[in-house]
Amino acid sequence: AQNRKESLFILMNFAKDHFQHLLWEEEEGKSIGLTYFRERGFTDESIKDFELGYSVEAWDHLLKTAEAKGYKRDLLEEAGLVVTKEGGKVYDRFRARVMFPIHNISGKVVAFGARMLGKDKKQPKYLNSPETELYNKSRVLYGLFQAKQEIRKEDRVYLVEGYTDVISMHQTGIKNVVSSSGTALTADQIKLIKRYTDNVTVIFDGDAAGIRASIRGIDMLLEGGLNVRAVALPDGEDPDSYARSLGATAFSHYIDEESQDIIRFKTKLFLKEASDDPVKRAALIKDIVRTITKIDDPVKRTVYLKECSDLLGISEQALVAEQNKLLIQKS
Ligand code: ATP
Ligand code: MN
Ligand code: MN
Ligand code: MN
Repeated sequence: AQNRKESLFILMNFAKDHFQHLLWEEEEGKSIGLTYFRERGFTDESIKDFELGYSVEAWDHLLKTAEAKGYKRDLLEEAGLVVTKEGGKVYDRFRARVMFPIHNISGKVVAFGARMLGKDKKQPKYLNSPETELYNKSRVLYGLFQAKQEIRKEDRVYLVEGYTDVISMHQTGIKNVVSSSGTALTADQIKLIKRYTDNVTVIFDGDAAGIRASIRGIDMLLEGGLNVRAVALPDGEDPDSYARSLGATAFSHYIDEESQDIIRFKTKLFLKEASDDPVKRAALIKDIVRTITKIDDPVKRTVYLKECSDLLGISEQALVAEQNKLLIQKS
């Protein structure tokens, strides 16, 4: 099994080299893939740092190239690089896409994310490798390999939604940044973060629906004992687009100035939504207390309850009572 795993690593590295070669050296890759990356503002240095690549528009280009090098079909399939159709026809999983290799913590490629070009509405924008012996998506954070030293140095990690957000922030000079690739954070990913820092700043895309959906993931971070700050971007922006539109200095400044403690962030968000409807208001307040209760440290909880009491205009006693109710339920 160890041998098999080693073979998979070698094959994934071969595939990564193959996609890079197509991007930098071959006509289709240069004119479509490299042009795409450059037009969206990635520097050649970023493209190289993240080992981005290109898969050509053909059914079996990788399959043929890999087989010619002696890689067996079953290994290619196990790696998720080819797919067998009904009837037994084998074809490349990734075709005519720009390729984002996903690295493990020691920098070896374990999977790919692949973005479509053009706007064929029938296809998913991003296509990812399936789970394999190398790739368990709940245990990987995109960009961690490139970020880990800087996370330690800064004693903080920025958490963003997508691949391109990581790359653009890196390019602006904020290198302590990782992405959970569009999904909710898992306990394993939080453990991974905790190897490097206890301090997380979540950067939310600027759409209200997105914030409401992802704010639920915050409880996980607090339960994991992390100190969490948050910042929301203006409507319609993600870190990639916003870093590009503001430029490096103004973007860093925005993040520094606008980020705030997560409980304060959530409380203010709720205040904006809270109608005069007392039932709704009560539900929102309970939701905030529930989040505070995820924090292990009783001193921190007390500080937060006091602050929320001020922000919400409700007695500290009432909040403490709600907290105690929840704590009893938990134990
Ligand atoms: P772009 O700027 O190129 O459109 P993005 O990173 O802003 O890309 P989003 O739509 O914001 O893309 O999605 C955020 C992240 O979620 C992506 O980077 C990717 O990791 C993941 N993702 C998005 N769509 C899919 C999909 N169809 N399948 C799997 N993962 C996806
Ligand atoms: Mn998004
Ligand atoms: Mn984007
Ligand atoms: Mn996005």
